[in-house]
Amino acid sequence: MQVTLHQDKCVASGQCVLAAQDVFDQRDEDGVAVLLDDRPPEELHDDVRHAAAVCPAPAIALADS
Ligand code: SF4
Repeated sequence: MQVTLHQDKCVASGQCVLAAQDVFDQRDEDGVAVLLDDRPPEELHDDVRHAAAVCPAPAIALADS
């Protein structure tokens, strides 16, 4: 799985961090999401898919690879 985070579209809701805290974090200054791991291990894929599903912005893109 390849994860892409579009920070320009992020609205800093924090949903992705709640869903997958090993893959996403938020910047202290403005809450914009930060990608910690663009190729997360298999056991985190469900959490990452959940993060993408609950993100209120089109900020998280997933691709199989
Ligand atoms: S869930 Fe989406 S909009 Fe919210 S912080 Fe994460 S990437 Fe940004």
